[in-house]
Amino acid sequence: MKALLTQLQYIADSPPTGGGGFHSEAVKTARAALRALRPRFCRWTYDDLYDYFSTSCKHEFSFNEGGLQENNVRFCHHCGKRVKEVKA
Ligand SMILES: [Zn+2]
Repeated sequence: MKALLTQLQYIADSPPTGGGGFHSEAVKTARAALRALRPRFCRWTYDDLYDYFSTSCKHEFSFNEGGLQENNVRFCHHCGKRVKEVKA
């Protein structure tokens, strides 16, 4: 799966046609596939011991008070995806 994403990313990032690039349709398809395959959620895992969340987009965050619900957090402020709370 990781290799597939890497391949798709390579095609999606390449300049379309000319200079050995991929056909523009291939680039378009790769971009669409990437959007469909990428996780749509940012998973926030709560750390009980140190009272913070670690996010699947590789950030850490803690609230002064309460958790996700209490603070009305629905989207990750780092990656913009919808937040999904995960029990550690
Ligand atoms: Zn995130």
